[in-house]
Amino acid sequence: MKVLKFGGTSVGSAQRMKEVAKLITGGEKKIVVLSAMSGTTNTLVEISDYLYKKNPDGANEIINKLEAKYKRHVDELYATIEYKQKGLEIVKSHFDYIRTFTKDLFTLFEEKVVLAQGELISTAMVNYYLQECGVGSVLLPALEFMRTDKNAEPDPIYIKDKIQVQLELSPDAEIYITQGFICRNAYGEIDNLQRGGSDYTASLIGTAVNASEIQIWTDIDGMHNNDPRIVDKTVPVRQLHFEEAAELAYFGAKILHPTCVQPAKYANIPVRLLNTMAPTAPGTMISNDTEKDKIKAVAAKDNITAIKIKSSRMLLAHGFLRKVFEIFESYQTSIDMICTSEVGVSVSIDNTRHLNEILDDLKKYGTVTIDSNMCIVCVVGDLEWENVGFEAKVIQAMKDIPIRMISYGGSNYNISFLIRECDKKAALQSLSDILFN
Ligand code: ADP
Ligand code: ASP
Ligand code: MG
Repeated sequence: MKVLKFGGTSVGSAQRMKEVAKLITGGEKKIVVLSAMSGTTNTLVEISDYLYKKNPDGANEIINKLEAKYKRHVDELYATIEYKQKGLEIVKSHFDYIRTFTKDLFTLFEEKVVLAQGELISTAMVNYYLQECGVGSVLLPALEFMRTDKNAEPDPIYIKDKIQVQLELSPDAEIYITQGFICRNAYGEIDNLQRGGSDYTASLIGTAVNASEIQIWTDIDGMHNNDPRIVDKTVPVRQLHFEEAAELAYFGAKILHPTCVQPAKYANIPVRLLNTMAPTAPGTMISNDTEKDKIKAVAAKDNITAIKIKSSRMLLAHGFLRKVFEIFESYQTSIDMICTSEVGVSVSIDNTRHLNEILDDLKKYGTVTIDSNMCIVCVVGDLEWENVGFEAKVIQAMKDIPIRMISYGGSNYNISFLIRECDKKAALQSLSDILFN
């Protein structure tokens, strides 16, 4: 069985939903994971913000606008009165439910419930559309099987057991439609797998049912060799190793959520990135295969802060790095890059929520300086250390860019630079010109 995930952009209008229906009907039985229609989760976040601020009128105004939009989608999606009616009932029930939260206390818990409505509506709409077209489609309720444990990590045994139960309830279905993103936590409360988490859902389901392939469908032709929004003449990369895809996803190639890679990698299930707008294009295949001696792609991640701790007193004496790391750990702040010398250590972080506390604690160990508005540029490919020449080529491309940190050797798959955000475009363009053109 294959698992196919369609993102918000792929189900963003009635017309797009019809295109998805064409792509998934026929052939073998499949599980289809859907995101909310594009923009919906953001709007639900906005509604929640009003409710946190105890502004029910503000919330209601947005709720009404969003509901009106959904009513138009329903009208456009279904051909028959019967299904238009069914669609309107779905929309009404979810929006009436959202409105109940405008009356009482609004906490993190209620927000999770509100955010879950986007995927619940989109899947119900597509499921009815398929049924109207005569396809044997059933809904597979994610809230019955997708669960996280006490550490907020997915619980693979629970997911595997419970999805099996749900599949067996409808053994004759041609297509199972389920919600991406949403889940229950260890206490049974509605929760989610973080923004963009539908990709993770697909990969967890793929692993749970031992799928032959996981397909992530979006609105662009696979992972590109550079950011197509910034650099011109980018081309899709046809094959990536799981580690390469993970690095690219983590360092800014938004087409795939980074969490999605690990479950598929361990289960050795290939992940294929495909384009809803050009369904016959080959897309990008992600697997455990490596293409020898090849630099594949470049990605960049903004909003990075570099912190340098400099000490004249035996900085790297044993135990020093542990003390530094413990400070970051105690503020739940993860480190992206790290570079050391005999007199100093530099790290980069992207979460600055506890920056001031971290700086205060670090100052016990030496002089601390920071650089903000930095950016990590990450070059990915078969960068095995025994290969020669590629570091020189990459550095050559960066020759005019001021570089704050360089990291290589952490994996066989990447070399990263920390530069100023304002130099990002120039760096990406130069890397493209020298490495790929
Ligand atoms: P979906 O709704 O399908 O999940 P998202 O909006 O979450 O889609 O993310 C996919 C979008 O990310 C694409 O439309 C693409 O334009 C954009 N994108 C961002 N960074 C990159 C990148 N480095 N390479 C390719 N696409 C990118
Ligand atoms: N709808 C959710 C979001 O916008 C999940 C997803 O699209 O993957 O974050
Ligand atoms: Mg997405």
